[in-house]
Amino acid sequence: MEEPNRYDVVVLGGGVNGAGTARDCAMRGLSVLLLEKRDFASGSSGASSGMIHGGIRYMLSDRKVTELACRDAGYIRRIAPHLVFRIPFLLPFASRAEEATLAERAAWYATEVYVGTYDLYQPLKGGKPSTRLSAAEVYALEPSLRPGLGGAVTLDEWGIDGPRLCLLNALSAEAHGAEVRTWTEATDLLRENGQAVGVRWRDALTGEHGEAFAGAILNATGAWSPRFGRANHLDVPMRPGKGVHLSLDRRLSNYGVICKAVDGRQMFLMPHEDESIIGTTDDDFYGDPDDLEATSDEVAYLLEGAESLVPGVRRARVTRAWSGVRTTLYEYGRTEDALSREHQLLDHSAEGASGFFSFVGGKLASYRAQSEEIADRLVEHLRLPARPCRTHEEPLPGGDEVPDPRELASRHGVPEGVARRIAYRHGSRSRDLLALADEDPRLKLVVCRDEGILAAEVVFVSRHEKVRRLDDLRRRCRLALAGCGGLDCARLAAQLVAHELEWDADRLRAELHELLEQNWRERRPVLDGWQLVEEELLRAVHRGLGGL
Ligand SMILES: Cc1cc2nc3c(=O)[nH]c(=O)nc-3n(C[C@H](O)[C@H](O)[C@H](O)COP(=O)(O)OP(=O)(O)OC[C@H]3O[C@@H](n4cnc5c(N)ncnc54)[C@H](O)[C@@H]3O)c2cc1C
Repeated sequence: MEEPNRYDVVVLGGGVNGAGTARDCAMRGLSVLLLEKRDFASGSSGASSGMIHGGIRYMLSDRKVTELACRDAGYIRRIAPHLVFRIPFLLPFASRAEEATLAERAAWYATEVYVGTYDLYQPLKGGKPSTRLSAAEVYALEPSLRPGLGGAVTLDEWGIDGPRLCLLNALSAEAHGAEVRTWTEATDLLRENGQAVGVRWRDALTGEHGEAFAGAILNATGAWSPRFGRANHLDVPMRPGKGVHLSLDRRLSNYGVICKAVDGRQMFLMPHEDESIIGTTDDDFYGDPDDLEATSDEVAYLLEGAESLVPGVRRARVTRAWSGVRTTLYEYGRTEDALSREHQLLDHSAEGASGFFSFVGGKLASYRAQSEEIADRLVEHLRLPARPCRTHEEPLPGGDEVPDPRELASRHGVPEGVARRIAYRHGSRSRDLLALADEDPRLKLVVCRDEGILAAEVVFVSRHEKVRRLDDLRRRCRLALAGCGGLDCARLAAQLVAHELEWDADRLRAELHELLEQNWRERRPVLDGWQLVEEELLRAVHRGLGGL
């Protein structure tokens, strides 16, 4: 009889690589335990730019990275078509054609050739080929750009909801038999005679703790990997880099716009879901990944860069600044943005931990291929019969259909804008979600107009998407991420979750407090002047009314 705490594979970390590998291994018939110390996508997978792109920047130095990302982007579009959306980009030419110097003309020509070469990879991900636009065409398409540009080249990319991508991989892993625990940290590696044999874990919410044993253990803890390694006398070399993004309260442009920051580094402003995102900084970071906050300097750097091409950017409201850590491979002597985006699976057998592997580097866009490569290696190590990889063929939960929002809206009597957001987030599962609203019409209440969150969605994710904390809803349905920062919508959502998860009044208050504090950490760096005064006042009213 199988022991209850024995598995073929234990995966540490519920980011995209951990969840992706857990799914792949479970689909091959292995028994899997996935441990995530907070919620899925609490690390860089939830703080990325959310682009399933081909990495045009890496084409010269890391052509393999570009090809892998483009190929995998194509597969991700196939398995999660509801969650992926097109983001066409403009790469503008800075001065008018008649005023351009010879050097500038040569640079334009080189850009066209470069982007033209990228076109060779576009079919892999279903991207459209690039186009050279005249100045008149650029302004007709994108009136928000500053005057005086000489034209642009277009570049076709895809966006995705990173947190939901992680969740769907974890749900799929579970559906294929994996055991999945969130808010559960792996605290120690267990070793015997040069072998890694298991881990000790602790549940942060209940205090429960235990041990899990496996023939192969994957450390997919991202920026936390060196720390877990050090605590267990293992070396996980990495060059961690902090990246900050800003969210703006509306879509400011029709296209993504590639611009230059004050130091000449490339950055962008792009429409993403219902907001605009400015990103990103890229600076070495040797601090604590649990204590990551944007600074007002980083906010100013990003706004200045975006403003150089889109002057209206300061008229929009910056709703939050969020940060993540890139887990790039260790290299000495290169600047951060020149570091390779290659990935590596480290085998720790030479350090006396055979069966323990750490994953470093890589991209969200190629997570599926990375997970396949890891799963291949784990299967080889385990010497177990396993089925071939099918993660590029079988849709993720909800990915078997992209429902028509109009049909959903009229069939279930909900606003079309809300139906559109629900169809985007849940794909074919929207039908089960909206059936809840049919059964109890009170659940047709719109909890957040900006993100199109229905009371039924809060109930659905609480029941079916491994929600353990109110904060998890930031990553399930973007609760409290819009302009109000949760002050308008979080209380109602908290009551619905409390009802589903049987929280008492104290727990509900604590969860609400924690969510609003987490949001405040992301909002505080972007506020000043009257905006800051107004928000402080609102927070005080909220705390007073809610006894938080
Ligand atoms: C600013 C920024 C922008 C980016 N933009 C893009 C982009 O647009 N496109 C793209 O392709 N890539 C992008 N990337 C890269 C991409 O985000 C990462 O390659 C990818 O998300 C890494 O996923 P991961 O699963 O390895 O790590 P993470 O997502 O960091 O996951 C690690 C998880 O491990 C958990 N954990 C930590 N310690 C423990 C423990 N002891 N026990 C259990 N769990 C633990 C953490 O809570 C975390 O959830 C970006 C990265 C950054 C930082």
